[in-house]
Amino acid sequence: MATSPDVIVLFSGGLDSLLAAKLLQRQGLVVRCWHAVSPFFGKPDRRDFWRETYGLDVYVEDVGRDFVAMLLQGPPHGYGKVLNPCVDCKIHLLRRAGIYMKSVGARALASGEVPGQRPMSQRRDAMRVIAREAGVTDILVRPLSAALLEPTLPEREGLVDRARLASMAGRGRTGQIALAARFGIEEIPTPGGGCRLTERENARRYWPLFTRLVEPTTADFALANLGRQFWGNDGATDFWLCMGRNSEDNEALVQATLPCDALLSLRDTPGPTALARGGAHWPSSVMLRAAELTAAYCSKTVGEDAAVCVKTRGAEQVLMVKPERGVFFESPPPFALVREERKVVFGQKG
Ligand code: SF4
Repeated sequence: MATSPDVIVLFSGGLDSLLAAKLLQRQGLVVRCWHAVSPFFGKPDRRDFWRETYGLDVYVEDVGRDFVAMLLQGPPHGYGKVLNPCVDCKIHLLRRAGIYMKSVGARALASGEVPGQRPMSQRRDAMRVIAREAGVTDILVRPLSAALLEPTLPEREGLVDRARLASMAGRGRTGQIALAARFGIEEIPTPGGGCRLTERENARRYWPLFTRLVEPTTADFALANLGRQFWGNDGATDFWLCMGRNSEDNEALVQATLPCDALLSLRDTPGPTALARGGAHWPSSVMLRAAELTAAYCSKTVGEDAAVCVKTRGAEQVLMVKPERGVFFESPPPFALVREERKVVFGQKG
């Protein structure tokens, strides 16, 4: 039977949380990392790599559903520069990690936070608010900066030796790089774990789900990560089409298909696969536009009639179309518009 962990480390896969875990491991503590997955962040397929390369035991938890609900309601502490609700994200993750900590009988939580490193979620005041609202104030150890912070319960009780923790602050990375070298870490990951919500291009992909879908789901946000995105409107209804850019996208779109969807592809030549969300119920005039666009993204069909297969659950039809772009479906709005609309939709929270 696996040994119960002493400490659960909130682990993004970035350098800071890796170092936090190693600092605690070096004290002889049994450390288990807790890694959150959602359509916006998380690399569950790295679990074996983390174990083999860094000797870390990583538990993966899917937090997508609650996270999406929080995003759609508007995060109480607002968004960062793009679509990243960092303060509420940290609260959310720490709360979930705290629940996991209790469920496995561990006695402390830890994170790789460093005061002053990130403008939104790692200011000292924000760090206090985050820990308080997550209900983990006295059990959350920050090994990279503990010497600069108040001692927490695990330190006061002697579970964690405070004298062997670090005193980092600010945005520089010198301390982290030096510590990584001391630990003999050769594969240095990026500072954070990589989060799609911080990238403008992804905000453009996600925003139409906020404004055009009634109740977007985790699966919808996962679909927004794939291929080229297009939206159309016939004056009453919005229509969402995702177009593969390569064979990897095409395969991912096939995997993402729901019973209500339609899949479009060229009958006589290789080309893109397109997923029409809810396409099983689209009017034929809209499906024709989708078929024209799908044909237009095949390099071999320039100007020629093309046969496009439209598959829905249990039915298949072929549409003969002329390749055509920009007639009905459009790309998502530019980021400047997303930012303006975000303020309108969420008010203060935006
Ligand atoms: S960057 Fe993304 S994952 Fe990191 S705290 Fe912000 S919202 Fe959360």
